[in-house]
Amino acid sequence: MHPIDGLPALREVIVKYGFQAKKTLGQNFLFDLNLTQKIAQIAGLTAEDTAIEIGPGPGGLTRALLKTNAHKVFAIEIDPRAINVLEELKQIENQRLVIIQGDALSINVAEITSAPRKIIANLPYNIATPLLLMWLKQADLFKSMTLMFQKEVAERIVAQPKSKNYGRLSVMCQAQAVCKRMFDLPPSAFTPPPKVTSSVVHFVPRTPTIPPKFYQALEIVTKFAFGQRRKMLRSSLKGLNIDINALLEKAQIDSSQRAEELSLQNFLKLAEIYQSFSPNHFL
Ligand code: SAM
Repeated sequence: MHPIDGLPALREVIVKYGFQAKKTLGQNFLFDLNLTQKIAQIAGLTAEDTAIEIGPGPGGLTRALLKTNAHKVFAIEIDPRAINVLEELKQIENQRLVIIQGDALSINVAEITSAPRKIIANLPYNIATPLLLMWLKQADLFKSMTLMFQKEVAERIVAQPKSKNYGRLSVMCQAQAVCKRMFDLPPSAFTPPPKVTSSVVHFVPRTPTIPPKFYQALEIVTKFAFGQRRKMLRSSLKGLNIDINALLEKAQIDSSQRAEELSLQNFLKLAEIYQSFSPNHFL
């Protein structure tokens, strides 16, 4: 038996420490260790990997991560109450578990961990998309990301052209990583239950990922294209302040098409040409 299996059940732990879930911190806990193990397994952690968990809370997913071969587990948590709760886990895994109290949005994980890195998290929903966009910008730092989102967000991440969920988030995510929706969890899997169904998405960054300036160009092009998604590209892209007809012609895209009809390759081409049309913008 692994020493972690001898720890008290998570439900007992939160009672013992009076760790009431706070809505403002997006605290919806997973107590079912079969589920946390299932998430950890998707990450496929090996003895070389550093696991980075955002928001360990009472530590259900952290327990599962520590039961893998990962050589270190970094757990970043904003709520000081959780740090006490994780103490018993820390006593068993003092060498491998590093607990950091802080705001994940302002922590550059590359500075505090070594590669190869894998992020695994049941994310607080209020900051899940900003965290994802921050990591996508530097996707080459990560071997994979295994992240829980609201199902609606997961659907947008993996959406394909000509579907209602296809948008800027789909293009930005798929440009940087192969994204796969792995499984859904009903509200009842969490304590307290959220209002919506959740989904785990697995991201494997492309090799190579796209360079920062190109990524920036893609952000701008998708912002305008999807900002007015019902309009034809010849008018939705006007805000780019360049010769739109020349841009679309060079990219071999019909100017009467709408953003939701364009493939990932179309967007990459548009960003490439846009960058070459306004090089000063990307110095
Ligand atoms: N991992 C635990 C589980 O699966 O049961 C808890 C997941 S809960 C959905 C989200 C966790 O993220 C909470 O523990 C919350 O306190 C933490 N959190 C919220 N905002 C955060 C932030 N800005 N930085 C780090 N952690 C944060």
